[in-house]
Amino acid sequence: SALKGAGEKTAQALGKAGVYTIEDLLRFFPVRYERFDPPVTIAEAPSGKVCTLRGTFSSQPQSRRTGSMIVTTISLRDDTGLCRLTWFRMPYLARTLKKGDHCLVRGRFSRGPYGIVMEQPRLYGEEEYAALQATLQPVYPQAGKLSAKQVGKLLHQTFERLEEDESGRDPLPAWIREKYGLEDWSRALRTIHFPPDEQALLHARERLVFEEFLRFILEIRMLREQKGKSPNRCACTRFGWAQQLEQRLPYELTGAQKRVWAEIRGDLAGSFLMNRLVQGDVGSGKTVLAQLAMTAAAENGYQSALMAPTEVLAEQHYEGFRRLAERCGLPLRCLLLTGSLTAAQKKEAYRRIRDHEADIIIGTHALIQEKVAYDRLGLVVTDEQHRFGVRQREMLAAKGEEPHILVMSATPIPRTLAIILYGDLDLSAVDELPASRRPIKNAVVGPEYRPKAYEFLRKQVQAGRQAYVICPLVEESDGLEAENVKDYTEKLRGVLPPGIRVEMLHGKMRPKEKNERMDAFRSGEIQILVSTTVVEVGVDVPNATVMMIENAERFGLAQLHQLRGRVGRGEHQSYCIFLDSSEEEEKNRRLQVLVRSNDGFEIASQDLKLRGPGDVFGIRQSGELEFALGDIYTDARILQEASEACAKILEEDPLLEREENRPLRRLAGDNRERLSL
Ligand code: ADP
Ligand code: MG
Repeated sequence: SALKGAGEKTAQALGKAGVYTIEDLLRFFPVRYERFDPPVTIAEAPSGKVCTLRGTFSSQPQSRRTGSMIVTTISLRDDTGLCRLTWFRMPYLARTLKKGDHCLVRGRFSRGPYGIVMEQPRLYGEEEYAALQATLQPVYPQAGKLSAKQVGKLLHQTFERLEEDESGRDPLPAWIREKYGLEDWSRALRTIHFPPDEQALLHARERLVFEEFLRFILEIRMLREQKGKSPNRCACTRFGWAQQLEQRLPYELTGAQKRVWAEIRGDLAGSFLMNRLVQGDVGSGKTVLAQLAMTAAAENGYQSALMAPTEVLAEQHYEGFRRLAERCGLPLRCLLLTGSLTAAQKKEAYRRIRDHEADIIIGTHALIQEKVAYDRLGLVVTDEQHRFGVRQREMLAAKGEEPHILVMSATPIPRTLAIILYGDLDLSAVDELPASRRPIKNAVVGPEYRPKAYEFLRKQVQAGRQAYVICPLVEESDGLEAENVKDYTEKLRGVLPPGIRVEMLHGKMRPKEKNERMDAFRSGEIQILVSTTVVEVGVDVPNATVMMIENAERFGLAQLHQLRGRVGRGEHQSYCIFLDSSEEEEKNRRLQVLVRSNDGFEIASQDLKLRGPGDVFGIRQSGELEFALGDIYTDARILQEASEACAKILEEDPLLEREENRPLRRLAGDNRERLSL
């Protein structure tokens, strides 16, 4: 709100997108760039794609009402044919458009059963379009009703005012910029928001990705540097309970699970504190390893905390652990601590933790709130760690008198990368799936397959199974052509027999509601769950056998692999249907990788090959870890360089005391200096 023209509403809209400060705004990066290609003729326009046509209106505009919506149409003619243009909720166009006028129109073009149409086109004059043609226009993530233009205005203003004092702000020291050929900070930011051309954009992006990686590596390394290997002050000597748990599991551990459990047990009993990353593909059975470790800690008189990235997941871990402890006859006291407990419930939870009335504490980031005081915290487990910042992990760790740390991740990071990213963390791999699993059957299909898919869903449900349907959006959104959870739920209820209960789940619901939905799905009351990607991580409902993903072309392969991992967890044959609405061969080819392979590592590397490192249009892709721009796969070279730079810095100046390294303190420090205007 320090900016001109930014009032309460703007602040709110930006807040929704996680932008609160000037620094956040500068880092509110475009998700992609729109390129304005030369106009095409109606005859050669590609169906299903956005393009620009040049022609003359050959009819008067007409408006009519359908339902609650006013639809305006007009025909556009060029030398090769006729196209119908339609707009929704823009009745004023009927007054401004005139038969005989010449115009350029840009929008999604399609040749369908209802003729040749373009929906919601934008209108341009010749000169206006010619000017755009040379540019790349940023497309921002959704920020309420804020348009890219408005975001642009705020940014222009910010840059203008920053100009006055720019020198001291660059967090990369000059010597690093020179050595790695990186441009300066404000120029890179300016370019990423307002790129003059593709070349400049690539260069700017490189600089910002380098900075992002360096910050990450520096933070981790400095924390490690300070800690080194610590003596084991939470040594575990008794493993009777863990053994009992292992013996009474409803299945036998796989070879890989046994091996990793032996490694963990060795750490718990050894001379140094555990600091271990357990990597294993989705469904490889990492949870039980955490349960064994926490059980051992409890038997030896220590509390342990398990932190999950979402409430849904925390609740699942809590219920699962409680039931398991009961069935194995172990006197474990579990406690759930999440943000959606009432104030009174929280207070009671804090008390039980403080008085050591609970051994196993499971929750979300609520576990690291200041008010939580542990009693002999001996082990901290974080599940799906890439969702957490390093800081958060360390804050939690700092609450005990130095606990063992166990990190579990399904992110397929190659070993070399993991070492760069996590320094001296020990690595364990759960590289084997339980033998009872049947491989998931996959299909990549087009929208015309939907009726068959619904029929298939019906049959599976009537055979007692359950299904997920994933949509990219929560609700209808202007300008984005993708399925949304709300409308889709309605639609499915319409096509499926009334006995089948279809419900939705998405991130805009309150945590409590989400939990209730998830519980109802887990218990089988709900048969079909229409959801956004909130179910992506960790959710475990073995009776679910169908995963149907709408607009699969919009997701990264690694993410799709995670989503697929929600099925194929029980004894029944499971299926995954990737619905590709893009009509683009290239995207379809990408999806075929998932049909061919079920191996997270393999998929990630194929994805990399198919995308090609030069693919800047969609600069944020796999969404791994916590990087806003960088992609550990496609930007592996930059990651390597940042790692080198970091090693050099810390070797020569471990405490960042030298004047030339001063700017780095801002990168590595806890209290990142806030930018102000
Ligand atoms: P992830 O590694 O993705 O976190 P989970 O720990 O959630 O996987 O395990 C997935 C499912 O497999 C769970 O339902 C779990 O009970 C089951 N499971 C784990 N280990 C085995 C095993 N050795 N044999 C059979 N099923 C197992
Ligand atoms: Mg898991």
